[in-house]
Amino acid sequence: MIVVLKPQAQKEEIREVVNELKAIGMDVQVNEGVECTVLGVLGNTYEVDADSLTLHPFVERVMRVSEPFKKANRKFHPDNTVVDVCGTKIGGDQLSVIAGPCSVESEAQIVQIAKEVKASGASFLRGGAFKPRTSPYSFQGMEFEGLELLKEAKAETGLPIVTEIMSPKHVERFDRDVDVIQVGARNMQNFDLLKELGHSKKPILLKRGLSSTIEEWLMSAEYIMAGGNPNVILCERGIRTFETYTRNTLDISAIPAVKRLSHLPIVVDPSHATGMNWMVTPLAIAAIAAGADGIMVEVHNDPKNAKCDGAQSITPAEFDVVMKQLRSSAEIAGRTL
Ligand code: PEP
Ligand code: MN
Repeated sequence: MIVVLKPQAQKEEIREVVNELKAIGMDVQVNEGVECTVLGVLGNTYEVDADSLTLHPFVERVMRVSEPFKKANRKFHPDNTVVDVCGTKIGGDQLSVIAGPCSVESEAQIVQIAKEVKASGASFLRGGAFKPRTSPYSFQGMEFEGLELLKEAKAETGLPIVTEIMSPKHVERFDRDVDVIQVGARNMQNFDLLKELGHSKKPILLKRGLSSTIEEWLMSAEYIMAGGNPNVILCERGIRTFETYTRNTLDISAIPAVKRLSHLPIVVDPSHATGMNWMVTPLAIAAIAAGADGIMVEVHNDPKNAKCDGAQSITPAEFDVVMKQLRSSAEIAGRTL
């Protein structure tokens, strides 16, 4: 951390600030310049309240030079984290493909889609049982009945299930029934939920918030990890920008940024990123080329009549074509699929 003092700060005033920092265990290097004095603060600077330090009458500016996330930080964990989900790995050489409908609608629907995506090479089945909808009048999901249907689809295909949690009250149930617990974009900063998931050992797929910075997203991962759960998978799903042509703007640059900042695996959701089914293939290819550890794609057997997100859903037949195209991209990226 760097503390720039005001040019008029005198020796005793500088000492006052230095002593305050030393009193809380910091090591302070004093650099006296021609214009002003700059303090280099070393130690566990997370303990320093930068905002209250700027209230000091002789402090001009406080700048953090290290990131506020620790457990999610690559500096403290140089090797990539590989999350094991019932023996299937996310973050290793093999790319992960999570596919399935936006929401579970019936037994026939989820079982049929599960079988088809599995035949095309998906490694996980997705399907929302609890849906975070903008309108309270829209379909809210089949809730616990939906969870049961996902379990049936898993029993038929062996595919581990990924589904979204909305309430901290449901953690125990999801812990029992679900293989990867998804935290949706709208709940990325639901801190009570994140804290509760920190007590779980289940892998958590943490989607990036609609308007969240990469640092805010990694701080949300930190909440889960600080609670004792190291199994976090990040999911870039597009962010709000001024562009209205697409539902969101896929932030491809978040992939190399996250890879540099963090050791956690990152997958990309090209479906929610744009809201358009015809953009799924090019964006999935781009994500793999940029270093993503996998993709999450919405697949529906009857997109026109889907209860949710039909416009961005591809059919199982289209998914099969995407998988074939992704195989050559995976090879170029030095990964297997
Ligand atoms: C979803 O995956 O169905 C979903 C609601 O995604 P997001 O939270 O990214 O909007
Ligand atoms: Mn959806």
